[in-house]
Amino acid sequence: MDGLLGDRDAARAGESPASQGCDCEHARANLEELIRGELRDTDCGPIRAHLAECTECRNEQQVFEKLTVAVQRACEGPAPASLRETILATFTQLHTGSDG
Ligand SMILES: [Zn+2]
Repeated sequence: MDGLLGDRDAARAGESPASQGCDCEHARANLEELIRGELRDTDCGPIRAHLAECTECRNEQQVFEKLTVAVQRACEGPAPASLRETILATFTQLHTGSDG
């Protein structure tokens, strides 16, 4: 049978999950712009498709959305320079929460 099995992918060194078109690294790198609506529809497509399949990235999306809303609200008034650092620190803690 001439099935399309990813034998070649298995030979490549790496721990990337079986995803096509868009991987976690790419999706997360564009999450912020995606949420801000700064990405084109053609760029949003593969990322949204990945978010629909990847629970981890979807969780990050939700975190980013909350942070984005918090930042936007803070920006309405005089936002201290340390605010961004505080948010980034909180976001980093979420990453270091799990130990694999
Ligand atoms: Zn992912």
